[in-house]
Amino acid sequence: MVSTFSGARSVEQSSIRSDIRALQPQIVEWRRHLHQRPELGFQEQLTAQFIAQKLQEWGIEHQTGIAKTGIVATISSDRPGPVLAIRADMDALPIQEENDVPYCSQHDGIMHACGHDGHTAIALGTAYYLAQHRERFSGTVKIIFQPAEEGPGGAKPMVEAGVLKNPDVDAIIGLHLWNNLPLGTVGVRNGALMAAVECFNCKILGKGGHGAMPHQTVDSIVVSAQIVNALQTIVARNVDPIESAVVTVGKLHAGTALNVIADTACMSGTVRYFNPKFEGYFEQRIEQVIAGICQSQGASYEFEYLRLYPPTINNPQMAELVRSIALDVVETPAGIVPECQTMGGEDMSFFLQAVPGCYFFLGSANPDKDLAYPHHHPRFNFDETALEMGVEIFVRCVEKFCKRSLEIE
Ligand SMILES: [Zn+2]
Ligand SMILES: [Zn+2]
Repeated sequence: MVSTFSGARSVEQSSIRSDIRALQPQIVEWRRHLHQRPELGFQEQLTAQFIAQKLQEWGIEHQTGIAKTGIVATISSDRPGPVLAIRADMDALPIQEENDVPYCSQHDGIMHACGHDGHTAIALGTAYYLAQHRERFSGTVKIIFQPAEEGPGGAKPMVEAGVLKNPDVDAIIGLHLWNNLPLGTVGVRNGALMAAVECFNCKILGKGGHGAMPHQTVDSIVVSAQIVNALQTIVARNVDPIESAVVTVGKLHAGTALNVIADTACMSGTVRYFNPKFEGYFEQRIEQVIAGICQSQGASYEFEYLRLYPPTINNPQMAELVRSIALDVVETPAGIVPECQTMGGEDMSFFLQAVPGCYFFLGSANPDKDLAYPHHHPRFNFDETALEMGVEIFVRCVEKFCKRSLEIE
């Protein structure tokens, strides 16, 4: 139910937009400040200091040092109401920046090549705006600045540290600037947006020997070649073709000389899927394949399997909230892109496992300005106009969520 008159609402909306537009130069400045000082996961000291200093300046209550470098800011209105959390990640990547911009990375070999500098700047802009306009919402907004999204993962330790408690968070939203979508679009969908990320390491233990006398050996290379091939049949022949999954062997190392049969071979790979029903399935099936082939060839093996991030799954009602707001912001139905699933992973998934919420992609590519390199590329950069759009979407989600008594399943 729309609780305000449409005329009044549009005046309110345009004032939000003009307020945020006025803030945009500062949001860009913060983003560029952070871009020059990128830090790897759990080492975001300068980043955390910068955030804390701003929150302090603006009189926003906050707690630092959560899961090492994480920060939670709490902005309460004077009226009781729901608690909405907004999550931003802060970490950079071990990449040498190749952009020629005045705000290029000053940290050798480290770069904000995924846009997390932008996420932090958007979250700061949102915090600033909300703190200045506490009358515009009821309840409480918690802004979560999370370390180490790129690995090993800061979301899980933050959830374990209780960031979703006291006051208890009713729902959470978050965004990723997304160069796979053009500026002016938003990728949002119900259900799985991003995949589970799992990985495995396997060592095949054969028996080395002379390349001319294979009968005296157990050739770990021949065994691992069979394993690599057979692993491809898990997705092709065991998984329902309506489902999506990936098994990739990305590393395979064996051997030292052309006339020596290698006694060991090491392989590593990654597994991706959307449907949570597959939790545990690939671990079991991959080991079965490895064990069966090793046994048939007289080899043995060591196997390690890690479930890193679960799939990122949106609550339909929260996705609808984001979709309706995003539609107002991008102003064209074509700007809402539901076909935005990716087999990439995100530890936002841990927050979404704990409380209902929505993670979405904010289109940030602009080929006309040469801002369309993919994420994790040494020339990755995005159109900073997306920053003000991000703040507007967050602010208006807060206003809408914290006005209604949304019953979430
Ligand atoms: Zn990334
Ligand atoms: Zn990222």
